[in-house]
Amino acid sequence: MDNSNLGQGKNAVIVGSGLGGLAAAVRMQAKGFQVTLIEKRHQLGGRAGVFTKDGYTFDTGPTIVTPPTVIDEVFEAADRNREDYVEMVNVSPKYRLYFSDGTHMDYGSYEDNLKEIQRISPEDVEGYQRFMAKTKPVYELGFEVFGSIPFETIWSMAKMAPAGILHQAYRSVYGRVSSFVKDERLRMALSFNPLFIGGNPFDVTSIYTLITYIEEKHGVWWVRGGTHKLVEALEKLFKELGGEVVLNSEVERIEVSKKRRVTGVSTKEGKHYDAGIVISNSDVANTYMNLIEPEFRLWNSDRRYKKAKYSMSLFMVYFGVEKKYPDMTHHSIVFGPRYKELLNDIFKHNVIPDDFSTYLHIPTKTDPQLAPEGCEAMYACTPVSNLDSKTVWEEKKDEFRDHILSTLDRNILPGLIGQGKSRTIVSLLDERDDFRQCHVLGPLNVLGIDTSLIRHSSDDKAS
Ligand SMILES: Cc1cc2nc3c(=O)[nH]c(=O)nc-3n(C[C@H](O)[C@H](O)[C@H](O)COP(=O)(O)OP(=O)(O)OC[C@H]3O[C@@H](n4cnc5c(N)ncnc54)[C@H](O)[C@@H]3O)c2cc1C
Repeated sequence: MDNSNLGQGKNAVIVGSGLGGLAAAVRMQAKGFQVTLIEKRHQLGGRAGVFTKDGYTFDTGPTIVTPPTVIDEVFEAADRNREDYVEMVNVSPKYRLYFSDGTHMDYGSYEDNLKEIQRISPEDVEGYQRFMAKTKPVYELGFEVFGSIPFETIWSMAKMAPAGILHQAYRSVYGRVSSFVKDERLRMALSFNPLFIGGNPFDVTSIYTLITYIEEKHGVWWVRGGTHKLVEALEKLFKELGGEVVLNSEVERIEVSKKRRVTGVSTKEGKHYDAGIVISNSDVANTYMNLIEPEFRLWNSDRRYKKAKYSMSLFMVYFGVEKKYPDMTHHSIVFGPRYKELLNDIFKHNVIPDDFSTYLHIPTKTDPQLAPEGCEAMYACTPVSNLDSKTVWEEKKDEFRDHILSTLDRNILPGLIGQGKSRTIVSLLDERDDFRQCHVLGPLNVLGIDTSLIRHSSDDKAS
């Protein structure tokens, strides 16, 4: 069926301009709808925000793009080429993994990994080969087939059951990985990436080993100039297509008629937008609990979302450094001394322990212009318990920040302390409110990421 002009003459509203909202806006506008994209913040992009300070440019959130094809598809939906709007760079190695025993591994392509595993744990080479061979069909089924199916009913989910049993979906990612490789460092290397989507590798189904295969097949990409360049590219495309953007405006209500049909939205400033279709990019719990009257959402009660399981939060430290670290890579994972126990503390015990693992991002490795000459821009992104932990971050945050920076200084960034020219700590306070994050327990135990931490605190510190 040709549905290229499906929306001719119809109004649609998108609530929120994260990457999801922007992609929906482009797709809808390309289908002929007249789309209004309403964003409550001062900039588009949601968690993919950006800020500059003292000549350093920091992406606030996502930095790792995989697979890039999902981005290309958005541009293709509007008959455009992504390359004409934004450049993407394949990053190699994908990550450098630092272990607490002082060793490290450059995690890259399959062939590169074989060499690295031969170096650090030769007896696991064969297990890694078997693991990757087993992960391929999981990817093909879980990502290419089931990845595009909406699991709206129990019956649609039931279809997955036989495949799930075949691929041992009942095991955790860590459990599955451990059945192939013995060295604990490799088990960490091959199991940590569910953390990127807010899942505990010891709990989430082993179907998520498909992320390892996605990274192998498609690579790990970086948007030239920073992720916000992708946001700008989508904004440009959306406006070219005739879409309208409204900033600094918070949708307060999705309006529904007595016939249970959406009629539009109203904002806190008292404006009304007519729309036959409303897409909410605001987190699902916020959408149901705060934007839609209870009488129109029997299945999506407040109780359901209050009971839902939150994933972790991220503690962010953005810092500029007035020196170069030529030996560092763009993406590093710095593991603390504990793995399972640390994740238990984060996900189950809701405490902030003394140790941590962090993702260190150094975009100036690929794009030196993101910092003044001779300097590096960095962020450390550290999983912590979510806001249910009741941690008083206002009291804890400076100490925790200094702990992270001094550990990095001691272990992998010698001379860091004293170099922090531009240091911004992001407070976890108010963040939930700022981004309206959600927490969803989906059919595959997918945890909606609970990382809406990007509110630049007013106490930016220079040291
Ligand atoms: C520090 C960090 C690092 C990350 N790293 C990666 C990574 O490397 N790779 C990766 O793939 N993912 C990463 N993620 C996850 C990724 O950022 C998110 O999954 C993604 O950006 C979410 O996009 P979204 O469109 O779903 O929602 P959001 O980005 O949350 O956007 C929702 C938007 O809706 C707006 N909004 C909410 N309510 C209203 C309202 N009532 N009215 C108007 N506007 C409203 C919000 O202001 C926001 O702009 C990271 C996340 C964080 C926080």
